[in-house]
Amino acid sequence: MSEVRHNWTKQEILDIYNKPFMELLYEAATVHRENHDPNTVQVSTLLSIKTGGCPEDCGYCPQAARYHTKVEGNDLMSVSQVKAQALRAKTAGSSRVCMGAAWRNVKDGPEFDQVLEMVRTINKLDMEVCCTLGMITENQAHRLAEAGLYAYNHNLDTSEDYYKDVISTRAFKDRLDTIDNVRKSNVTVCSGGIIGMGEALEDRAGMLVALSTLDPQPESVPINALVAVEGTPMADLPPIPIWDMVRMVATTRIIMPETQVRLSAGRTQMSREGQAMCFFAGANSIFAGDKLLTTPNPDVNEDMAMFKLLGLNPQKAFTKVSQPKTVEAEDSRYEAKGEKPKWTRPGHTIDRNEAAKKKANLTE
Ligand code: SF4
Repeated sequence: MSEVRHNWTKQEILDIYNKPFMELLYEAATVHRENHDPNTVQVSTLLSIKTGGCPEDCGYCPQAARYHTKVEGNDLMSVSQVKAQALRAKTAGSSRVCMGAAWRNVKDGPEFDQVLEMVRTINKLDMEVCCTLGMITENQAHRLAEAGLYAYNHNLDTSEDYYKDVISTRAFKDRLDTIDNVRKSNVTVCSGGIIGMGEALEDRAGMLVALSTLDPQPESVPINALVAVEGTPMADLPPIPIWDMVRMVATTRIIMPETQVRLSAGRTQMSREGQAMCFFAGANSIFAGDKLLTTPNPDVNEDMAMFKLLGLNPQKAFTKVSQPKTVEAEDSRYEAKGEKPKWTRPGHTIDRNEAAKKKANLTE
C-alpha cells in the first residue's frame, strides 16, 4: 500500500503533474489499484435543496444573487420532496445523496432543523448522506453527525494565493475553519476544487498542498472543471483541455492514495474516452443526474451505459466507512445555540466580479 504523506510540497506536486503523460497515468493507476477496486465507482446524486440568492461573490457561481444569471431561485425543499428524490436516485443506482443549499453559512433555526430531518430521513433509506450548506460551527457539525450525516462538503476551490481573485466575501482560512469544525465530529470530509478558473499550474498544486497536508486527508476530493455560465464573471473563460483534467485527477490520486477522487462538474464537456482516462488515472466517483445543482450533467442512463461499456460497477453504500446511527431530534445531546459561524471579510474587491455585478444591474 502507498504511504499517506501529509508533507507534500508544491514543487513535488508540480513534478508529478508535469511528468510524461504515460508515466503519470501508469503511476496513478498503480496507486489506485493498491488502494481501491479499479472497477468500482461511487455514484452520488447532487440535490439542490435551496437554490440561488446567495450573498457570496464566488466568481464561478450562477447562484450568487449579484450576478443575475438565468438560475431560478427556490426556497428550501420539504422533507417529503427530498425523500422522493432520494428514493428515485437510489433506484437509479446512487448510493449517496448530496444536498446543497446556496447559503453563506448555516444559522440555527427552523430551516436548519428541516435539513437535519432530511438527513435523518435519507440515512434511514440506507444511503450515504452528504450536505454542502456553507460555513458551519462545531456544534452544528455535531448536530449533523447525530442526525446521521456521512459527509460534509466544503471545497477549498483553489490555492490560498488565487483565492482572493475568485472570492472577496470570505477568506481561504474560513474554509479551513469549517473543515476543522467538521473534523471535530465524526462526519467525513469532502473537499476539492475547480480547475479552469484562470489559475496557474502553481495554484492547482497549491490547492493540492492544502488538501493533502490536512491530517487526516479528506475522505473525498471532488475535481471540477469550470462550467462557464453566462452572467458570471467567468462566463468567457475557455473550457480546459481533457489532458489537464486527467493530469489533475492522476496527481490527486498519487498524493492522496486512500481518498475517493470525484469526477465532478464539467463531465458534459468530456467524451467517454476522456472520462475513461480519468477513471484509469484514479477517479472513483461521479455525480449522477441531469443537473449538478444548477449546471448540466450527463443523464443517469447515459452514465449507466458508460459503466456497462467500461465494466464498472456502482459502489455499495457504506463500503468505506460504516453507516452512522441516527439520533432523533428529541434525544439529541446537542442543543441549538442560536449561533452562526464567524467569518472574515477580507475587504477587497475583484474587478471582474464587480464588472459582472454592474452588467447585471444595467440589464435589470
Ligand atoms: S459557490 Fe456557494 S457560497 Fe459561493 S456563491 Fe455559490 S452558493 Fe454561494
